[in-house]
Amino acid sequence: MSLSEFELIQRSFRACGARRSDLVLGVGDDAALLRVPPGMDLAATLDTLVSGVHFFPDADPEALGHKALAVNLSDLAAMGAEPAWVTLGLTLPAADETWVAAFACGFCSLAREAGVSLVGGDTTRGPLALSVEAKGLVPAGQALRRCGARPGDAVFVTGTLGDAGLALRLLGEGVPVEAGLRRRLERPDARLAAGTALRGLASAAIDVSDGLAADLGHILEQSGAGAEIELACLPCSAAVAAWLERTGDWALPLTAGDDYELCFTLPQERLADLHRLLPALPCPVTRIGTVTPGTALTIRAADGSAFRPSRPGWEHFHS
Ligand SMILES: [Mg+2]
Repeated sequence: MSLSEFELIQRSFRACGARRSDLVLGVGDDAALLRVPPGMDLAATLDTLVSGVHFFPDADPEALGHKALAVNLSDLAAMGAEPAWVTLGLTLPAADETWVAAFACGFCSLAREAGVSLVGGDTTRGPLALSVEAKGLVPAGQALRRCGARPGDAVFVTGTLGDAGLALRLLGEGVPVEAGLRRRLERPDARLAAGTALRGLASAAIDVSDGLAADLGHILEQSGAGAEIELACLPCSAAVAAWLERTGDWALPLTAGDDYELCFTLPQERLADLHRLLPALPCPVTRIGTVTPGTALTIRAADGSAFRPSRPGWEHFHS
């Protein structure tokens, strides 16, 4: 990167996100200094989005800025952590001023909204790729984990499943996609409020990025348990419900991924606590099944037969 290109990028991200009193030193030195408050654990996560693999090369840069951060916030939500700081690695084929400004706008407005401060980053020239590392805070010992599900626990999911997958499929077929559906693919909301509310309540949690079947599978693997879920209980938007009616393609809500909802398990004796909490949550929460002994994930169709999705999990798409 030339100096002027570097300055252009720096200018676009100046004072990006929220001002935080726990940021001792931000951009400008060789490293940022972050103060973790006493009694808190630091949660750290990194995701990389590559052009042509995770997004279309001509994707709207503003939406891309939003999504690059949102997918990381979703991982913090799954841990029950509150986002605090973020670093950004940008690999760009060229420093296109309009593109960078739009990307920064999407990224920085979500950062502000989520109370997270951009504390550093790196810029290199190369095929378009975005790396985001988000750091969050969670009261010591209270982070949600994947390993705590026990037989008898109820299995829940937030929001709806399959919207992003359907939008991606329709776009791939050149079919016009309704704005609300498209938004679910391009500008996902991380379920941060649900994540923090589930601290001390959920026995296990994960965010649904690779598809419900694969991600619930991670909880079961790490918990040494199985589960039985029902197709008829999967929460779906009107668009996905209509698609399922037409095609019967139940693999979509189970395996398409990119949902960024939370899947969590809850001991039976905490069900009443969850119900008390629901009115304060900005998203619906739906029970989809129960944790069982053994290690198998059984998916029941409406007629009681076992359903096997044709695709095991999320597949990266290619341009
Ligand atoms: Mg995750």
